[in-house]
Amino acid sequence: MNYKNYPMVSKVVFGRGSFNQLGDIISPKRLNVNAPFIFFVDDVFKGNSWLTSRIPLAYNDKVYYISAKEEPKTSQIDELVEKIILDYSERPSGIIGIGGGTILDISKAVSLMLTNNGESKDYQGWDLIKNPAIYHVGIPTISGTGAEVSRTAILTGPKLKLGINSDYTPFDQVILDPELTKGVPKDQWFFTGMDCYIHCIESLNGTYLNAFSQSYGEKAFELCKELFLDGNLKEEEAQDKLMMASWHGGMSIAYSQVGVAHAISYGLSYLLGIKHGIGNCIVFEHLEEFYPEGVKLFKEMKAKNEIELPKNICTELSDREINIMIDVALSLEPLWENAIGKNWKKTITRDKLKALYKKM
Ligand code: NAD
Ligand code: ZN
Repeated sequence: MNYKNYPMVSKVVFGRGSFNQLGDIISPKRLNVNAPFIFFVDDVFKGNSWLTSRIPLAYNDKVYYISAKEEPKTSQIDELVEKIILDYSERPSGIIGIGGGTILDISKAVSLMLTNNGESKDYQGWDLIKNPAIYHVGIPTISGTGAEVSRTAILTGPKLKLGINSDYTPFDQVILDPELTKGVPKDQWFFTGMDCYIHCIESLNGTYLNAFSQSYGEKAFELCKELFLDGNLKEEEAQDKLMMASWHGGMSIAYSQVGVAHAISYGLSYLLGIKHGIGNCIVFEHLEEFYPEGVKLFKEMKAKNEIELPKNICTELSDREINIMIDVALSLEPLWENAIGKNWKKTITRDKLKALYKKM
């Protein structure tokens, strides 16, 4: 047995208002006055001076507002990298991502592609990155994906939705300031929160499970139940706890894998552009046969939080379109192996997946 030697986020700050320390944290990392810090900020914060007035800009530092309406694409990463190379005489001192999973993944991917030649699509997969990224910092403003701790940056490319998984992907620094999540709309709070819940279910019920993953997964699962089922938390307490649940959920899958819901929802997202959080929820409802207890609890959480999910999104699709989704889902072999076991190909047939997609 050869055990993996995983990198982790090297430094982390936690606390309400800790975002105020950003300037002090990054200033020692400035390489020189011509090497800017580039801030990728979710454009939902454009004009929101409560947040933007605290972004510490100096010299030729720059804020790029980026939309999270669509999930990150490899072409988008390549364009951002090219723009940065053209705009500055020197490589940036660092990339700072302020936003949800979308912005965090963009920040990780750009920081990697500034030091690795070629196009980002060529690095989708496992351990294809050769050179360390430039200094990169993640500051989540919505909790659940675990993108702040993970060693992947998930991108949609010309062929696949697949992450850049590498030892150089994790952030060098994360700032966990739960106060930054105060403006998240209720439905979005649930969808991204359920990403965390589903990470727990898939990790805890997977064949890759081990005590490392289990200890983090159980903690995140407990917090999710407190947040979405018991529901007696004050708003601030909920913000604090979901941020930590996301972290633990991400740590849990670091040493295991996600499973059926993620494999199938990547297909939905690739073909229909359905976003990760809501896509996982749409899929998860139909996975009783794989996760009976987890799905039962999910349905209770959905009812308790008065969430409506879109229905019949696949009923009108052609066979060709369904086949594209099946190809994406089946390409995620480690996810299936974790969920079902080494012989997963015996039970996870194209017909089986087609029948599942047709229910959604
Ligand atoms: P997101 O980043 O797509 O944001 C969802 C919505 O919430 C957007 O409209 C955004 O503008 C809004 N938003 C974010 N913060 C807000 C705030 N404080 N106030 C008001 N609105 C706010 O959402 P997400 O669910 O965090 O991320 C999904 C992405 O994460 C997908 O691209 C998925 O592939 C990726 N992901 C990555 C990992 C990983 O390990 N790298 C894991 C899971 C998911
Ligand atoms: Zn996820």
